Amino acid sequence: TVLADEQVEQGRCERCHSVVETRYLRQWWLKITRYAQQLLDALDTLDWSESTKIMQRNWIGRSEGATILFDLEGCRRKDVTVYTTRPDTLYGATFLVIGADHHELDDFVLDDREKRGAVNAWRNRLPPATEEPDFSVGMDLGSRAVHPLTGERLPVWVAPYVLGGYGTGAIMAVPGHDERDWAFARAHTLPIVQVISGGDLKGAAYAGEGLMMNSAGFDGLPSEDGRSRVIEKLRERRRGDASVQYKLRDWLISRQRYWGPPIPIIHCAKDGPVPVPEEDLPVLLPEVEDFRPTGTGTSPLATVDEWVNVRCPKCGEAARRETDVSDTFLDSSWYFLRYPSTDFDDVAFDPERTAGWLPVDMYIGGNEHAVRHLLYARFVMRALHDLGLVDAAEPFTRFRAHGMIILEGAKMSKSRGNVLNPDEYIERYGADTFRLFMMYLGPYTAGGDFRDAGIKGMSRLLNRVWRVAQLATSDGPHDDRKERRRHRHIKEVDDDIAQLHYNTAIASINTFAVELDQEAAAGAARSIDADTLLKLLAPFAPFISEELWERTGHDDSVHARGTWPAYDAELARPQRVTVAVTVNGKVRGQLEVDAGTASDELERQALTLPRVAALLDGNQPRKVVAVVDRIVNIVV
Ligand SMILES: [Zn+2]
Repeated sequence: TVLADEQVEQGRCERCHSVVETRYLRQWWLKITRYAQQLLDALDTLDWSESTKIMQRNWIGRSEGATILFDLEGCRRKDVTVYTTRPDTLYGATFLVIGADHHELDDFVLDDREKRGAVNAWRNRLPPATEEPDFSVGMDLGSRAVHPLTGERLPVWVAPYVLGGYGTGAIMAVPGHDERDWAFARAHTLPIVQVISGGDLKGAAYAGEGLMMNSAGFDGLPSEDGRSRVIEKLRERRRGDASVQYKLRDWLISRQRYWGPPIPIIHCAKDGPVPVPEEDLPVLLPEVEDFRPTGTGTSPLATVDEWVNVRCPKCGEAARRETDVSDTFLDSSWYFLRYPSTDFDDVAFDPERTAGWLPVDMYIGGNEHAVRHLLYARFVMRALHDLGLVDAAEPFTRFRAHGMIILEGAKMSKSRGNVLNPDEYIERYGADTFRLFMMYLGPYTAGGDFRDAGIKGMSRLLNRVWRVAQLATSDGPHDDRKERRRHRHIKEVDDDIAQLHYNTAIASINTFAVELDQEAAAGAARSIDADTLLKLLAPFAPFISEELWERTGHDDSVHARGTWPAYDAELARPQRVTVAVTVNGKVRGQLEVDAGTASDELERQALTLPRVAALLDGNQPRKVVAVVDRIVNIVV
């Protein structure tokens, strides 16, 4: 079947690993390139994972440079335009290269039948393209290009390392300052001229900045300034201009398969491709016996005569349906528009519903979608927005790429056999424990390392929660400290969930549970604390929290709307407490810290107090005992 560039990994299909070969087909494309600048600019307005934005920026690949016109001699073509990001190296151009797959390659060949025959024979024998091009493959076309500033005649070559379908399909080669051109020039003993100072061209091309040299009137100019100066000169001579280019290519959407939405076009001999009238949409797939891909470049649909042969919607003459279907990435580029409107049979999406629900507030997915699904969806949304069909121009306000869970330091893979089976853990520890553990492994957006020793900690947490819920008694007199603690934990968990910091939310719940467990053992746990603990735990361990909620006498569900606890910002604010610092039993200072500051932090701060440091006189204390919120005792 046919693959997009993005579906090819090292020359093989990413799914079935078959070797990919190149064939020429007529295809359908969507003009995403027209949106390149918009898609790039609007990234700045989105609250997305930075890593995803960077991948999109690189994929769109905006560059600033110049287009330069070279006159041609000895061939049918009169001239050719090339693009370069380094017009400052123009004087170092020593030859031109045309892409081997350029569809008008003939026109660049020396006007001589024998030469053209030789070039065609050479091209037909080319091995399939590989990831890392073979720079020894290339051929002199015999024609000449005229350097736009020096008038020098440069040879014109053809080689597969230049892509014939990208840009103008031709480049000016500057072997002194471009790695690939350098490799090609070395392989074919073409001249390498240094025009920017720096590096040693005997060993490698120098792609950095420097002073211009061997560049006529520009010598001595810093290369950064040289770019615009060379462009100016080209503009004066009508031989070039500044230009912005993008790496982004148009989106190939057609596939020669059975499964997929047929592209709604009818081909008429007189009218050409005619869109299927709206009232006849959608075009449904015909029932067929054999829907396997044919492998010949035509869709299996082409064999279904009664489906293919139709009347032209324009002139009524006999015509044929398009037999290609669209790729699944086209479907996934707008599924979120359909979700709120699945009960509408006559429209793709209802404008009012869509306006109410979209854009998507929070979208979580893998970064493997960064340059396909997420870019296509943005493009389709913008196109629909420009057509006046949706209000929002961007589909996803927030996007977070989730991390990956690895297993004892290694990426899990079926082929390596180090795959984790959750069922075994769920069987042994229960789904709540397993779920808690997964969320506790690391920050959600970073992933974590699964080492099963840690799962017991989550099991202990749930045992604590169980005891607290069972032993908590009705609330005694108002306890300011406990109330503040309760509000603080609600705020911590609340904030952490909003930030997808599930691991630290669970850590906060655990701290709360440890203290309540101690209080419960002493018969002093409050039921309001136990209830709060269950509510905070409910999103992470839904089963045990619901069970305990019921057992502790509640009629509703712990997951019911409105049960999420609220906090009072004033009460949740950490209190400042004064902690006394003693050395050998005498008070030598005090610390002003947030209530609840951990004992190791108290110890660290106490040891840096000037009076304490003076008494220690560079020695390590014999013993330090820090009691949270109370005192630090140091023995020297
Ligand atoms: Zn027609």
